[in-house]
Amino acid sequence: MNFELPGDLRDMQATIRDFMLSRVEPRAHEIEDTNHVPDDLLREAANLGLFGLSIPEEYGGVGLSTLGRCAVYEAMGMGHMGFGGVISAHASIGTSGLVKLGTPDQKERFLPRMATGECIAGFAITEPSSGSDAANIRTRAEKKGDTYVLNGTKHYISNAPIAGLLTVIAVTDPARGSKGMSAFLVEPQRTPGVSIGKIDEKMGQKGALSAEVIFQDAEIPAGNLLGPEHLGYREALGILTNGRVGIAARSTGAMQRLLDLSIAHAKTREQFGQPIAQFQAVQFMLAEMDIAIQTSRVLWQKVAWMVDEGQDVRRMASVAKYHATEALSQVADKAVQVAGGMGYMKDSPVERYYRDQRLLRIYEGTSEIQKLIIAGDLLR
Ligand SMILES: Cc1cc2nc3c(=O)[nH]c(=O)nc-3n(C[C@H](O)[C@H](O)[C@H](O)COP(=O)(O)OP(=O)(O)OC[C@H]3O[C@@H](n4cnc5c(N)ncnc54)[C@H](O)[C@@H]3O)c2cc1C
Repeated sequence: MNFELPGDLRDMQATIRDFMLSRVEPRAHEIEDTNHVPDDLLREAANLGLFGLSIPEEYGGVGLSTLGRCAVYEAMGMGHMGFGGVISAHASIGTSGLVKLGTPDQKERFLPRMATGECIAGFAITEPSSGSDAANIRTRAEKKGDTYVLNGTKHYISNAPIAGLLTVIAVTDPARGSKGMSAFLVEPQRTPGVSIGKIDEKMGQKGALSAEVIFQDAEIPAGNLLGPEHLGYREALGILTNGRVGIAARSTGAMQRLLDLSIAHAKTREQFGQPIAQFQAVQFMLAEMDIAIQTSRVLWQKVAWMVDEGQDVRRMASVAKYHATEALSQVADKAVQVAGGMGYMKDSPVERYYRDQRLLRIYEGTSEIQKLIIAGDLLR
């Protein structure tokens, strides 16, 4: 066994960590104030290959393995989480369905523009009446000649306001229940009948925009059916499984950043005539943060390796996501505690992380849903 990342991945991780800390982090206030990631930062991200992480080299991407992609996500977790959210919604759930199930023609049409960030991607399954219960979505796709006509509403869709391409899950055969679902490649900006609703006002992750997507007799060419017709719920959700390990990796990076900030603060903040790092109560919080980081890192690395080995990771991806996102919430809480009053102030990155991280226990399957998946697999 070898627990060390290969040298090229460590180099790439260091480059992205540098970018996040020296280029993105200093713009955090701007992103918070405008709820917008500046275009020049997105261009820099594109030049670093971040939009093409999971896209094969033949289509202009970096073609990283899951291990490589997650190593980058861990580094991305160390800067503004909203910025990381835009990239990861594109590079994981927005891209993986097309890479896995797309025909050569579909890949040729979209992947090169996605790799450069010219076409930003997203994934849409959630609806107002079906979130955790995603098997009961109502968006309907009816085959009419050479098109599928989509009607319904998706909500909370990451990147929707800026997306050039969405992978949309809709019901093609209600009689088949959850097996009657299909995936479609939808170009929201170019398709009559597709509109983007009001942008969500979120607690955190500013700059990572999400919104409703409304389909009113939207005609999608039959050539944009992704994978087989009636692909089914299980397969459609497979797109999310790979996203979950990425979230575990991003959480690990966020925890590392919070620990680094906490150590720096504890060494310099003096109370009772000495740095607060001298107090065992503070040391214990730092130690607990490190335990959370080490365990989360080993888990995401193992699951990413399993994906690359072609193993079924449904349960283990949930284990990794659950563990890392729950651990991150505790780490963020401790980081605020170590920072004291300063950790409650808007000026502090710790305050921002405290808000931003909360989402990770909710999207791509809540913590409760992860436990249902784990238990379901254990009892099968
Ligand atoms: C900012 C943001 C971005 C998002 N981005 C996307 C995206 O890009 N694409 C997309 O498709 N979706 C996206 N989502 C949707 C997200 O995946 C859902 O919000 C999530 O799956 C939970 O669904 P819900 O909000 O309807 O909550 P609900 O399903 O209503 O859950 C409410 C509570 O009930 C619990 N619960 C539900 N069912 C059970 C059960 N059987 N057993 C135990 N507890 C249960 C849940 O765990 C939760 O605690 C996003 C959400 C947010 C907030």
